[in-house]
Amino acid sequence: MRLRTACPATPRAWTVELRSHADGLVLVCRHCPHGSTRTTAAAARSAALAHLARHARGDLRPPHLRICQCHERGCAWHPRHRGCASPIRLLLAREHGGRLWRLADACTACAAATAQAAVVPDTVLTRAPLQPETGRRHRRRPKGPGEQIRVREMLSYLAAALPAGTSAAARLLALQCALRMSTTMEARLSKGVLRSLRLNTTPGPWRELEHARWLRPLPESTANEIVVALLDAAVLGQAPARPDRMRAADWALRASTAGAIGPVPQLMHLYLAAHTDPHAGSGLCELDQMARACGVSPAVLPGTLDQLAATGLLKSWQACPDSEDLHWTLHALS
Ligand SMILES: [Zn+2]
Ligand SMILES: [Zn+2]
Ligand SMILES: [Zn+2]
Repeated sequence: MRLRTACPATPRAWTVELRSHADGLVLVCRHCPHGSTRTTAAAARSAALAHLARHARGDLRPPHLRICQCHERGCAWHPRHRGCASPIRLLLAREHGGRLWRLADACTACAAATAQAAVVPDTVLTRAPLQPETGRRHRRRPKGPGEQIRVREMLSYLAAALPAGTSAAARLLALQCALRMSTTMEARLSKGVLRSLRLNTTPGPWRELEHARWLRPLPESTANEIVVALLDAAVLGQAPARPDRMRAADWALRASTAGAIGPVPQLMHLYLAAHTDPHAGSGLCELDQMARACGVSPAVLPGTLDQLAATGLLKSWQACPDSEDLHWTLHALS
C-alpha cells in the first residue's frame, strides 16, 4: 500500500471552518498561516465562499494538470465510490450544517456521489477582475441546452448553498433571483413573475430567504415589483452574461409554471425538466439528490410524481429501490 502524504504541489482543495467565538464567529482557513478572521452569523457563509473562491482563483491551472482531489484523499468525502470519471470540475461542499465548507477539484463521478455539494461552473474563477479579456469573448453561446444546463447548475448550487430546511416555494424564488440578478447583486421580480409562480400572495418564502441570510429586501420594492439584494457572493459568478441568465430564468419560469400546482410539484417538474435529455425526452437522477434540491424528504417524491403524471406533465416514472435511481419520461415543454 502506498501512503499518501500532504503534497503541496497538488492543493486545489481548500477547506474553511466557521467556529463559534465568545462574541460571534471566526472563519478559520486551514491553508492560510494567519487564516482566522472574525465574522458575523449573517456574513459567515458569504465570507467562507468568498475566501475559498480567492484560493481557487490564485491557483488556476490548465485542465490537464487538474486531478481528482477526492480520489487523492481516498474518496472519504462521499459514501460510495464508483470509480473516477473525467472531466474534473470544481466542487463546493458543505458539511456539519454549514460549519465547514470545502472547494476542491473532483471528478464527475466523485462530484455526483458527494452529498450537500454542487459543481461550480469554472466561469466563476476565470472572471478574476485583473485578467484581461481574451478574444474568446465574441464566441456565441448555444441557446436551448445552454439555458437548461444553467438552470440545472443553479439548482444544484442552491441545493448546497441554501439551508436544508428551505421550502420549495423559497427555492423557486431563490432560483429566479439568482438568475435575474444584476451586476450589483440586486434582483427584481415583477408581480407578473410572482403571479405565474403562484407566489404573489404570501411573504413567507421571502422571509425564509431573509432568515437564511440569503437575501435582504430593499426599500425600492413597489406594489408591482419586489426588489432584493442578494447576499450570496458566490452566485454572482455562477452564470455568465446577464442576458443568458435572464433567458435561463424565463426557461425556468416556463418549466415551473407548466401546469403543476403548488410549490413542491412546480419545483419537481422544473427539476425533472432541467435533468431531462432534450433529445430522448427522458432522464435519470438519484432520488435523494432530487429530494434535497426540492427541499422535501424522499418519501414525498412518489406521491408528487404520481400527481405530475395525473396532470399529464410526466409521461412515466419508475424508481429503482436498489440503486435509488429515478427514471422518467417527460412531455416536451411547449
Ligand atoms: Zn485561506
Ligand atoms: Zn471520490
Ligand atoms: Zn474522483
